[in-house]
Amino acid sequence: MKEMLQKILAQNRCWIKYGKVANYIPALAKAEPKHLGISIMNIKGQAVTVGDCCVKFTMQSISKPLALIQALLDSGPVEVFRKVGMEPTGDPFNSIVKLETLKPSKPLNPMINAGAITTTSLIKGKDSIERIERLLKLVRTMAGNKNIGINREMYMSEKETADRNRAMAYFMRDTGVLEGDVEEVLDAYFMQCAIEVSCSDIAAIALCLANRGLTIDGREIVPGDIVRVVTTFMVTCGMYNASGEFAIKAGIPAKSGVSGGIMAVVPGKMGIGVYSPALDERGNSIAGVHVLEDLSAWLDLSIF
Ligand code: GLU
Repeated sequence: MKEMLQKILAQNRCWIKYGKVANYIPALAKAEPKHLGISIMNIKGQAVTVGDCCVKFTMQSISKPLALIQALLDSGPVEVFRKVGMEPTGDPFNSIVKLETLKPSKPLNPMINAGAITTTSLIKGKDSIERIERLLKLVRTMAGNKNIGINREMYMSEKETADRNRAMAYFMRDTGVLEGDVEEVLDAYFMQCAIEVSCSDIAAIALCLANRGLTIDGREIVPGDIVRVVTTFMVTCGMYNASGEFAIKAGIPAKSGVSGGIMAVVPGKMGIGVYSPALDERGNSIAGVHVLEDLSAWLDLSIF
């Protein structure tokens, strides 16, 4: 397995030069574009890692399925889906346009920014600290790593430059989607995006989803019905507006983030974490996407 991963890594390094590190959040621009790491954890909990798999990066949008899990646990599906839809958008992740044009106004799904800010508002807590503590507890348990925390520089960098997310959030308060203190909700959202992990953490979290929400030793962390909802969203909306193409080419439920991480869940088989910060024009890690397509072909991982 290690040899195969090394081959896949070597043959996909060439993609990096066609991508670009995100810079709309200033701290993201500091990433080393050459980094490429892959980590796989199988259903027995055995891990194989190659490349820069120990480099730390922030979750960014990979936090969205996890915030959705916590919101479903805290507020239940009826309340969550009263406020957020279940449909892909075909628009960029930070698009504002449909918030006004769709009637009744509600974000189309929890994997775009507007939907994710809404799910964060449905995590229980009197303030942003209580909300993020609940989410961090879930992330640490799923990853089996109690040292996972928040990268403060990234959190501050996003908080200082988040006019678009702020605009969406205030718009959603006006339409009644978002309730309570908008700044508190945004603060929790910025912190969740800045949760710092490695590929190996991502693989372990993905494995928990691949194992129907159970730890390797059989403890339930996420109920099976929630796992099903979240992995379905990963298929339909997890790879920005390239989700359809990725479903056809790789066929693995996955969620990517603008930091260059991708979390991929192969139900019943394995969890995969890939990191490479140079992104394609739709915001997915350019080498990461190709690595997952190759892995899927080599190991016959498509769920379709
Ligand atoms: N923190 C980023 C934002 O809200 C996350 C975007 C992403 O990874 O897609 O803009």
